[in-house]
Amino acid sequence: MKVYNTLSGKKEEFTPPSPVKDEVKIYVCGVTPYDDAHIGHAMSYVIFDVIRRYLKFRDYRVKYVQNVTDIDDKIIDRANQRGIPPAELAQKYTDSFEEDMKALNILKAETDVYPRATEEIGKIIEVIAGLIDKGFAYPAGGSVYFRVRKDPDYGKLSHRSLDAMMSGECAIGGGEKEDPMDFALWKASKPDEPFWESPWGEGRPGWHIECSAMSLKYLGEQIDIHGGGQDLIFPHHENEIAQSESFTGKKPFVKYWLHNGLLQFGEDKMSKSLGNLVTIKQALTKYSPDAIRIFILNSHYRSPLTYSEEALGAAKSGAAKLRQAVSRQDPTGGKGKALDAKPYRQRFIDSMDDDFNTAKALATLFDLAREINEAGDSGLSFSKAQNTLSSLAREVLGLTLPEMQIISSGKVTFRISGKLSAKATVILGAVNTRVKRLVEERLRCRKEKNWQRADEIRKRLAELGVILEDTETRTVVSYKSIPSEADLNSLLKELGIDFKDSPEKGG
Ligand SMILES: [Zn+2]
Repeated sequence: MKVYNTLSGKKEEFTPPSPVKDEVKIYVCGVTPYDDAHIGHAMSYVIFDVIRRYLKFRDYRVKYVQNVTDIDDKIIDRANQRGIPPAELAQKYTDSFEEDMKALNILKAETDVYPRATEEIGKIIEVIAGLIDKGFAYPAGGSVYFRVRKDPDYGKLSHRSLDAMMSGECAIGGGEKEDPMDFALWKASKPDEPFWESPWGEGRPGWHIECSAMSLKYLGEQIDIHGGGQDLIFPHHENEIAQSESFTGKKPFVKYWLHNGLLQFGEDKMSKSLGNLVTIKQALTKYSPDAIRIFILNSHYRSPLTYSEEALGAAKSGAAKLRQAVSRQDPTGGKGKALDAKPYRQRFIDSMDDDFNTAKALATLFDLAREINEAGDSGLSFSKAQNTLSSLAREVLGLTLPEMQIISSGKVTFRISGKLSAKATVILGAVNTRVKRLVEERLRCRKEKNWQRADEIRKRLAELGVILEDTETRTVVSYKSIPSEADLNSLLKELGIDFKDSPEKGG
């Protein structure tokens, strides 16, 4: 297995140095929760989710840590704008982020740790104090700074010299620093800011030290993989290396540095300031989690990814093709000459072994799906191939490929995802007939140009979790949640719609 290491600038054989056999220790920088997460965040966390899943698939035991920067200038500013305490704002968006990750089917394993900066102040202070003792840091004006020129390796990750950095934007001098390159480990608090007690006065930790302290506490002095977006290479990860290696005296702090490319919107970066930000929650109203994952995994993780409705639309039909292939009935019952999926499985593994080339791995699954869809015509049995496709897609790429039932009746199509039990199907029958009556009433209102009532019906159904989508010829119904018969009966009654249950359902 080969991985591209930012530190060496080339692909290297993957030989994790963990002292425990077959264990891989991974640290990935987490979010600063001051707003809803966007598709750029989805990109990074989906990529590292697939890397973890693949390592597990290759029988490594993965120990994963991802921090939450729940105290930061951005959080304080936003909380002040809204007139709420910073901790309340951070909690709200930490919850929101967790919801998004769950919706995108991102693993949360029992061995994972998601430490929060505000709960790790003790460890952070310990590391800062150690750096001062060793002469790598100094207090000044209630803050503490890292002495960059003391570290001869500084710049080894971003491959820059100190002089080149000096001319960059990072070298904004503060009066109390010894050198403009020095960065803050501890920040003295300004009036009305949250603070913690420290040997240097009231203050809060800098962003970089947080990751060094947490990886040290939860993963030890040296780790196998550190991940994040390419925008974190400098200064954040460069600073993490300087802090961790100076504190422990052990090199390297991280054996493999993996960085994902960044999300773009057309020619531009996706960013709040450009006003082209798409949140994960917004994207999920239009596209399934599978479609979003396929969109992300369809290009190499180190390349930039361009967000477009076309690309997401293509991912959506890709998801449908895979779903169709895994849910087809094999008419041979698995007997007779079978479609051989082994070469596909090997191609998939070869692609993933080559620096997690998910684009090629996905292409292999699409090829296999096509073979399955064509195998029916040639009389080959394909249930074993379906198992291969399903396990690679689900286990490694984290797709869910929900089974989807499509029932059409008159001008109404019901789209129901998930496997339904026999009992649920009976209940659903009664629900569908009621929803159908409401949809027909809405179509009648639209014909009569009674837009207000038509819209009222659509809204009331949406409140019950029933989503209507109009195509040129029909209305497609999908259930976010399945409403109760009783709720639908009262809605029908309230709207004065005459409804009689079909006699075969027994009223
Ligand atoms: Zn970090």
